[in-house]
Amino acid sequence: MFSSDILEATVTIIPLWDSVAYITMKAVILDGEWDPRPEYECSETEADTHKSNNGSQTWKHPALHIENREKPTPESDEVLVKVRYTGVCGSDISMTHADGDRYMHYSAYVNLPNVIGHEFSGEVVETGEDVQSFSKGDLVTSEVTSYCGRCHMCRNGFNGHCENFEQLGFTIPGAFAEYVAVPEILLWDVSPLEKAYKSKDDILKAAATIEPTTITYNGLFGRAEGIRPGDYYAFHGVGPIGLTGMNVARAAGAGAVIAFEPSDERRDLARELGFEYVFNPVETDPTQAVAQVTDGMGVDVHVETAGAVAQTYPAIDETLAETANVVHISNAGEPASVDLRQYQANAAQVYGAEGHTGDRIFTGVIRLMAAGKLDNLPLVTSIFDLEEADTAIEQASKRVDGKVLIEV
Ligand SMILES: [Zn+2]
Ligand SMILES: [Zn+2]
Repeated sequence: MFSSDILEATVTIIPLWDSVAYITMKAVILDGEWDPRPEYECSETEADTHKSNNGSQTWKHPALHIENREKPTPESDEVLVKVRYTGVCGSDISMTHADGDRYMHYSAYVNLPNVIGHEFSGEVVETGEDVQSFSKGDLVTSEVTSYCGRCHMCRNGFNGHCENFEQLGFTIPGAFAEYVAVPEILLWDVSPLEKAYKSKDDILKAAATIEPTTITYNGLFGRAEGIRPGDYYAFHGVGPIGLTGMNVARAAGAGAVIAFEPSDERRDLARELGFEYVFNPVETDPTQAVAQVTDGMGVDVHVETAGAVAQTYPAIDETLAETANVVHISNAGEPASVDLRQYQANAAQVYGAEGHTGDRIFTGVIRLMAAGKLDNLPLVTSIFDLEEADTAIEQASKRVDGKVLIEV
């Protein structure tokens, strides 16, 4: 039996219920079973750390649950962000869905258990002692890939391909949670959005769509070369990445933006956003649609955001304008067959694009939004509470929404 002295002392200092409420937070955790497929060549590091290079080969039985876990304490170079909105990404869908063998669909880097979610906005509530650029109350969004700055890739300017990388929401805790700790060097101040949006809520909603927008912005202006105002664009697949990309293309002075999308709801959404040339590629031959819109001149900028490469590339190859740029953004697993003769004849090129680090990418997207030239708010078609994260992910997997957000 406890002596009454000890009991009293304990109770007076920190009542248990208060301390629990103070140090814990709600978070959505993805867990699974580490079980590399027998045919997968698992590296030593993967086997030791379970930080997989390919989730679909190593992680079985992915399952979401919500738990109270310790609220993160920022390291000296980190900022603690109170999350407000987090978007559901295609990668969240593929991490939480399994194939016939019960392995997750997601074929890139992932370590479990982990708090997922990486497209977020929020408010700074605490800063580590070495943090210089942010203070309490700042509204922010974040890049995804945390880089070391020291490795060969980083030293050559490819921070997004850091050899010692971690990824928020994939290999380290992300933003389907009340709080997330983020290295200062990944954060972006979104206060310029005050010029375009009146309420703090709209600023934070719009800010949660910055990260997915940077993906196409990087493909178009970080990777491809020589895109000009007046160019004709065609987006193949207009989910959240395609739709935000179309907004970027319009802001960049596109001569015309054509969309090919089989989902009725998403075609309707593209029209609601003010885009005129929106086609169902199953019903309308893309070659004819392009000939009609471009007066037979072809497309200057093709953007592949569908991942259905067997369907999209035959149409892309047939509709290349002279010196066309093809920007490949989807990470579809199957190899495409491409008619290289068409590229040779049209002096066209394909650019692979991944990520969004550096290169004025976040700056460009934030400035366009602040100037009122890029408005993603109409894209936000569903909002769920954090407790309903599983429902939010199911909704996003139906492929009828523009952007599904989780409100924290
Ligand atoms: Zn994403
Ligand atoms: Zn590095």
